[in-house]
Amino acid sequence: MNKISRQGVAAILMSVLLTAAAAGQESFDAAADAGRLALDTGRFEEAADIFRQAAAIDPAREQEIALDWGWAYLRLGYVALARSEWQDADSTFSAAVEHDGRLAELFAAQWAYARLRLAWSSIEQVKDNHRRVRTRPLVDEAESILQLMPDNRGARYLLGWLYEYENHGEAAKNEYRAAIGGNPSGSNMSVDAFRKAAYEAVSASVTPFGPIPVHPGFETVEPGDFKRHKTAHFEIIHRNAALARRLGAAMEYYMSTPVLAGVLAGNARLGKACIVTIFPTKEEFTKSTGKPSWVGGEASFRFVGDEVTAQIDLYQGNVHLMESTVPHELAHVRFAVSSYYDRKLPPWIQEGISVAAETAVARWSWLKRIDKAREDGTIATAEELMAQKDVPDDGHDLFYAEAYAAVSAIVEAFGVERFEAFLGAVRHKPQEEALMEVYGMRSVDFEDVILGWLGTSE
Ligand SMILES: [Zn+2]
Repeated sequence: MNKISRQGVAAILMSVLLTAAAAGQESFDAAADAGRLALDTGRFEEAADIFRQAAAIDPAREQEIALDWGWAYLRLGYVALARSEWQDADSTFSAAVEHDGRLAELFAAQWAYARLRLAWSSIEQVKDNHRRVRTRPLVDEAESILQLMPDNRGARYLLGWLYEYENHGEAAKNEYRAAIGGNPSGSNMSVDAFRKAAYEAVSASVTPFGPIPVHPGFETVEPGDFKRHKTAHFEIIHRNAALARRLGAAMEYYMSTPVLAGVLAGNARLGKACIVTIFPTKEEFTKSTGKPSWVGGEASFRFVGDEVTAQIDLYQGNVHLMESTVPHELAHVRFAVSSYYDRKLPPWIQEGISVAAETAVARWSWLKRIDKAREDGTIATAEELMAQKDVPDDGHDLFYAEAYAAVSAIVEAFGVERFEAFLGAVRHKPQEEALMEVYGMRSVDFEDVILGWLGTSE
């Protein structure tokens, strides 16, 4: 994936919004909904742009979108962290807090980490150029991080280092002591020994990439029974009306978006409405579906003649709900009603297509998983991937990631029509044979195609 960029869609939408600006209330609501949809479908920069537009339409109502506007920046901050782009992480986290100050406590540790990395890289730069470090601004920065997060050991260590650099030995010792978390044994230690002990303590305590928080609006569970919310293709059973409305909009958006150059067409015909249940808790979801704990959602369907009855089960509190689980499970349903579908198709094909339907930000995370597997030598060969009869419980994440790469690679290299022919062929014959018949290649050649695709996908 390239760096998440503003999409043409946003430009078109915004010009529509500008023309509608005079209409006041209605256009503010439309813009706010469009912003939330962009946010929920992983288009964070676009969401921030649309929220800015909404606020321009009716500044008095900015408060209504403040949380979501801030949330778009929060998510951009996490993307920047995952890319080790500390400056971007700092500025987007800072923008998140400008829109909604309550968000700071959700990512304080991540924000502090990005800012400390920036401070240290500025120190490195100055030292590389054999100049003196200007300590005052960095002391201020460390103090400001401590205001955000009073027990941040990394900021204490930085202060210790700066005081030591200024030849304030006792002050340095005090900060190192705080970084260690109290007085280490052997209190007559030198500054040097304190620094080393503090460095160890800080290295052990750093957890920069905690899980992305759940959107506060998605956590509410309304009292009473489950309610229903209907959209064109879905009937959503829920305990949170705002979440159901947003989920419905996201599902219709995904439904209309083609996947893998049309392997999944836009707006497939479902026949009956697909029933989507959002359980309030993971426990209720697990009890109902009987799925292992790592599963975030489940799609099931049965055919009566040509008519499909489909159902998707989800739960509130799943961090990846909107941008990964929903498009993924929906893709299983969309594939089931397509002319390519066969129940016996190997799992790498079915899961690969579903992962390909996830948002760009989710797919990028899957590719990072493959990078890690290539580094530690656990990546499966194409032959091993094809041989999997079920999604493995152990190593399921790598399986999904590789299935996605395999399907994307083969469709991108040889087109949709041959992929369709391949899907037809693997129903009746072993995969190696089908591969040879349709593509004229063996699984080792397929592996080269996959590796080639990985090489060109950042
Ligand atoms: Zn799946």
